[in-house]
Amino acid sequence: MPPIRLGPRDLLEYSARYGVLICRECQYAIQKSALESHLLKHKIYRDERQRLLSSIAQLELFEPDDVPLPTPDSPPIDALPIISGYRCTAVGCRNLCASSKRMRRHRSEIHGLSDPRNFSSFTRPVKLQTFFRGTKLRYFEVTPLSGAELDEQMHDAGMPLLPPRVRTPPETPPKSSLVDLNLETLTYFHHFTTTTSLTLPSAESPQLATHYWQTDVVLQALGRRWLMCGLLAISACHLAVLADDATVERVHRERSAQFFLEFSNGWEEAANRDLSMEVEEEAKKAGGQMVCILRCAQWASAEYMPDQGIIPEPAAPSQLQSIMTTIRGFGVRSGDDDSQEQTFAQASRILNTRSASNAGSFGAFPPCDNTLSTLLNHLGTLPSRMAEALGKPENTQDVLATLSAIAALVECCVTSFASDEAGTAWRAMATWLIKVPGHFNHMVSRHSRAALVVLAHWAVLVERAEHCGCWFLKGSVRKILLRIAERVPADDFAV
Ligand SMILES: [Zn+2]
Ligand SMILES: [Zn+2]
Repeated sequence: MPPIRLGPRDLLEYSARYGVLICRECQYAIQKSALESHLLKHKIYRDERQRLLSSIAQLELFEPDDVPLPTPDSPPIDALPIISGYRCTAVGCRNLCASSKRMRRHRSEIHGLSDPRNFSSFTRPVKLQTFFRGTKLRYFEVTPLSGAELDEQMHDAGMPLLPPRVRTPPETPPKSSLVDLNLETLTYFHHFTTTTSLTLPSAESPQLATHYWQTDVVLQALGRRWLMCGLLAISACHLAVLADDATVERVHRERSAQFFLEFSNGWEEAANRDLSMEVEEEAKKAGGQMVCILRCAQWASAEYMPDQGIIPEPAAPSQLQSIMTTIRGFGVRSGDDDSQEQTFAQASRILNTRSASNAGSFGAFPPCDNTLSTLLNHLGTLPSRMAEALGKPENTQDVLATLSAIAALVECCVTSFASDEAGTAWRAMATWLIKVPGHFNHMVSRHSRAALVVLAHWAVLVERAEHCGCWFLKGSVRKILLRIAERVPADDFAV
């Protein structure tokens, strides 16, 4: 897997495999916390630095202690210097040292042996590399490619790192023809047109979604590299979700991350450009929907990490807000611009019809509609149960916003359960985010318990969308509920 290069003169190199970002000039990996100062050191200022930092923010970077180390049979990492050192051959000990002096000390301190002769009987010369320097320095053994000429520089002074060296490039297979076909990329493209395009929702009309992704978007992507990268990123991500094997999944995820990086650079450029031409407007729209799908997938599949509250709220948008904003960014139109009164009227009409029909042997609603009935009954009584559990609300604006959000949820539930089609379920879920009053979003941002309880009910719609085929939401429901559980005491959660 080729590493990704970024920055002026390809200064930085990202390895998705190890989750590290290496400075090619300095020849070591930069810790996340030192990134900004490191870019300054290389005289990368203002806009350029911000742009670079936001690209880097899309990458998964591990803390030094969490970086997996290559196995001893791995080839050296190009961007890092190769150091001659020693491995201790004592049984069960795998200690690596860059100098013979240190190895002798290791032998006497750890193994209690101090015979100064016979050095080669307990060590083996090896080639070493390290991602980080200083306190995070950790050597790993590598096996240089046999074709590469490596100058045997013995290096015994305790200085762990050599100056940059010139190495002959690894042998490349002879070019068999002038046609450059990347079969891997074509596979992703094929998967998109034949499979993924059938699964994606559209912002406009659910009926046209397949045609939109299979034809309109593909044609636009064929004329714009950045958009094509977005398309391939979605396809790779889809294959990762479909994979049974963890290794295969990881490979697809890494590819997806690489495509995503190039896509988001182009997308940002397109978004900042002044666009008067209609064609560009279309490409921008497609790009916006791709960003949303990819971010949802990323959000849902990322390792679960509790909000640690290191940055004081609400300065940092919480994870919940971030997924809400992402889905809202998809650009689903709510169809009609209902006023709040209309939403309330609509909701109470639905709830009244519902309870009437429940009383009289299901009336207009088929009995298979049980989940929806239960859910609506639940929502109908939610305000009173919340009032009991949460006590007297702090202010009327909160009460109004909460009630309005519940009313909108009633409406969206009915839409969602009307069909098992992925596009419909997606729209119903996304529409709620657009219908809720701005004040409700504000309540979520300050972790109002009432708002979070309502949000937990919305998760049912997310679950339905996932269940109906929105694969890029896989895992998101669990994560949403975990996030809410973090903020809401258990007895409120029971509501
Ligand atoms: Zn550097
Ligand atoms: Zn040892």
